[in-house]
Amino acid sequence: MRAEEQALKPHKNIDVENALNVVRPTLGDKSGVALYRLLRLVALEDIIGRGASGAAYLAGKKLGISLGLTNLEDFLQLCQDLNIGIIEVPVVTETKIHVDVYECVTCSGLEPVGRPICHFEGGLIAGAVQTITGRNVRAREVSCIGGLGDKTCGFDIDIE
Ligand SMILES: [Zn+2]
Repeated sequence: MRAEEQALKPHKNIDVENALNVVRPTLGDKSGVALYRLLRLVALEDIIGRGASGAAYLAGKKLGISLGLTNLEDFLQLCQDLNIGIIEVPVVTETKIHVDVYECVTCSGLEPVGRPICHFEGGLIAGAVQTITGRNVRAREVSCIGGLGDKTCGFDIDIE
């Protein structure tokens, strides 16, 4: 098919369900952390620069919302299935949640770069909590393993 014909055909967006259709008879559904990190931390930052953190947060939040989760347990299960990290939630109140991520997929092991870098995870948590609570939610990364040399990637979640 020629490029012009291709451009005229209606495109379908790739949704979560479709993206997770993994058919790799030999290699299976596992890949290394390296591939994700190279895309997120090296390639995207190189193209978008400082704006990459905002874009990553928004991407995470949209994705978190699109998951349509109804309770925190399902979200924690998803994080476990995706191997995002070891998640602990030491604080849950009406208006505040604190989430700690140990062995963070994005940054654990990096030589600290002097700024928090796990905006995608923060957005993902915010989006999921927003859907679960039905209220506006913001996440702030207050500690970061590979960004700042902390023990966990810690996220303060403010629920309006
Ligand atoms: Zn992190």
